[in-house]
Amino acid sequence: MIARNIIFLFVCLLALICAFFIVGHISADGAALRVHFFSVGYADSILLKFPKKNVLIDSGSKEYCGKLVQDLISLDIKGIDSAIITHPHDNHYGCFADIIDNFTVRQFIVNYDVKNADSGYRELFRKVIANKIPVRAVKAGDVIFSDKGYTLLAVLSPDILSDSTNDNSLVTWLRYKDTSFLFTGDISPKTQDIILKKSSALKYADCVQVPHHGGEISQAFIKSFRGKIFVVSTGKNKYGLPLQTQLEELSGEVLRTDQKGDITLESDGKKVRLVYD
Ligand SMILES: [Zn+2]
Repeated sequence: MIARNIIFLFVCLLALICAFFIVGHISADGAALRVHFFSVGYADSILLKFPKKNVLIDSGSKEYCGKLVQDLISLDIKGIDSAIITHPHDNHYGCFADIIDNFTVRQFIVNYDVKNADSGYRELFRKVIANKIPVRAVKAGDVIFSDKGYTLLAVLSPDILSDSTNDNSLVTWLRYKDTSFLFTGDISPKTQDIILKKSSALKYADCVQVPHHGGEISQAFIKSFRGKIFVVSTGKNKYGLPLQTQLEELSGEVLRTDQKGDITLESDGKKVRLVYD
């Protein structure tokens, strides 16, 4: 009888240890990170969905606004904690007015490039101010947020503004435990090289967004990232992008939003995988 009780206690203890390990392994805060690259034509819109926080990097243009709003509703998004505008081009900020109408936006993150702001961008900011939404301008070295040492969203570029609106794009680095993602806006090869020289950790990124909708990429960029998941946010355009020959030089899995539709990646903190649902 005593032996049976000891065995029973041992099994219970083992079950408790297993449960603790499994829960602890999934995430300290109970769920994984999902990164959604929305298919919004020749434009960018990326949602970082944390268990208790949502970040939207760019909104795509007005043209695909209805789809983006529906996509966010179907993901049960009610509020956007940080809305990041990488740079003031319409296919990166064009739907944010509708995002403000449909969701609670808690803050906007922008670069310092006001010189290149067009009338649409100024109109958006009249709405942002009317809605009393805080705006924070950031540059390389700033941290958008960091949580308990598990998560970091940091700005890698620009250091100083140039005459190129694209090169002034906010480039961000998301680290979630042992995994990381690089979001590149529309930067040219010159800025790609500057970023790569800054940090040797970048080559460990699990997922890399190919800059400028699959535009020109530097040899250093191609060589730095081996065996990665590359995402190209692109659609029909008159510029001949993405540059197919360059995409073929990349080492890893290349996923295009114009071919795959919305692309969802998930990180459990150890590995990044493509989600098929
Ligand atoms: Zn663009």
